[in-house]
Amino acid sequence: MEITRLLRTIKTHHPQADLDLVRLAYDFAEEAHRGQKRLSGEDYVTHSLATAQTLAEMKFSAAIVIAGLLHDVPEDTSVTLEDIKKNFGSDIAGMIQGVTKLGKIKYRGLERYIENLRKMFLAMAEDVRVVFIKFADRLHNLETLDALPPQKRLRVALESLEIYAAIANRLGMGDIKGRIEDLSFKYVYPEEYAWVTGLVRERYVEKERYLRRTGKIVERELSAAGITPISVYGRTKHLYSLYKKLLRYDRDIARIYDLVALRIIVKNVADCYAALGIIHARWKPLKGRIKDYIAQPKPNGYQSLHTTIFCEGGEVVEIQIRTERMHEESEMGVAAHWTYDEGGKGSAQPPQNLRWAQELLKIQKELGKSDDALESLQELKIDVFQNRIFAFTPKGDVIDLPEDSTPVDFAYAIHSDIGDSCVGSRVNDQLVPLSTPLRSGDVVQIITDKNRRAPSQDWLAFVKTQGARSKIKARVRKARRG
Ligand code: MN
Repeated sequence: MEITRLLRTIKTHHPQADLDLVRLAYDFAEEAHRGQKRLSGEDYVTHSLATAQTLAEMKFSAAIVIAGLLHDVPEDTSVTLEDIKKNFGSDIAGMIQGVTKLGKIKYRGLERYIENLRKMFLAMAEDVRVVFIKFADRLHNLETLDALPPQKRLRVALESLEIYAAIANRLGMGDIKGRIEDLSFKYVYPEEYAWVTGLVRERYVEKERYLRRTGKIVERELSAAGITPISVYGRTKHLYSLYKKLLRYDRDIARIYDLVALRIIVKNVADCYAALGIIHARWKPLKGRIKDYIAQPKPNGYQSLHTTIFCEGGEVVEIQIRTERMHEESEMGVAAHWTYDEGGKGSAQPPQNLRWAQELLKIQKELGKSDDALESLQELKIDVFQNRIFAFTPKGDVIDLPEDSTPVDFAYAIHSDIGDSCVGSRVNDQLVPLSTPLRSGDVVQIITDKNRRAPSQDWLAFVKTQGARSKIKARVRKARRG
């Protein structure tokens, strides 16, 4: 790991970046950490450099990379945040302050967990770039986990799996999520890890060879139709996500079709659909396995066309077709929005269309007020990490909810008055009980009665969102009193 490699990586993605400032930051970090060693015996600055390298490879601007280089300086050395501000400006110093705040957690057990989560959410709401730096930092710590005592190893790995990977997933950062999970997997479930790696070792080699051959055929077929793919390659499934899928399929690897998948990246959406047609013309698709996530993206924003086909020699192969932009978004999620600017000045504000980032700010404010913060946080954790669905109002507005949410959750998500006065619901024009679990794409109409004084306490038994739960509790309490 060297500074020249870091500079080269930044330059590839940001030709205009101020590389002198990056070099200065490296020298600054090297001097500040001089004499400090990692538990692995390496000079401390190797950690700073590895963190920065990961950020640069994620195509982040120089400012974020510099913050990565300096992220442990105020915490671990005599150099202060003020010194950093003087040399590198307030934007970079602000990010480092955010990372430092995240580092200080002195609790144990469940309280430690909650505190950790709370700080991650706070950091995310204030400046999500801090969380990106924390991911890069955590990745290198996981890569060098063997140097830690076993007890601490397990704690770090578990925390990474339960908090960091979950948040990365919610931010749509598929690549980071997969890497954090796979690195933690080995320490959290060592026996299961050995089992899964054993299962895939030979299969991956064999399947990759097969996909290389198939990829060539696909490229030929596409070019014959006048489509030049940007790339065609086989992707192997991340180990931990394969493990979780195996648990859902009786541990039977023969039933898992996307162990490896053929990924086709093309220029635009029209080419995506054309490519799908060309593939289906040559190979028969399996029934019920064609998924159009372009027309109907997953709630975390994921877009692609998926199909599973009976391919050469009768092999069952999953194909994923997407544009370059969709690919970037699926690997990088929210972070993709911070990589496009050239100058190196990233914005601390989330992009406007990030509904749930704004949601988060709202929840954050509510949490600040509530006195049973611990309970709310546990509920919030469930809210944020559950899979999401989209449901629609009759006017076509989208309401983003956790999986299995009910019309009552939907009503409270629109407005607390609608929740309080709701008496019935129609889903896709059918009258249904208020406890009915909603599915993505449902059109939900809430029937209200102005004379209804308060929500029913019975709703607490089935609502899924923290927002609905806390409002029902508060209203029921108030109605009893008065
Ligand atoms: Mn660090």
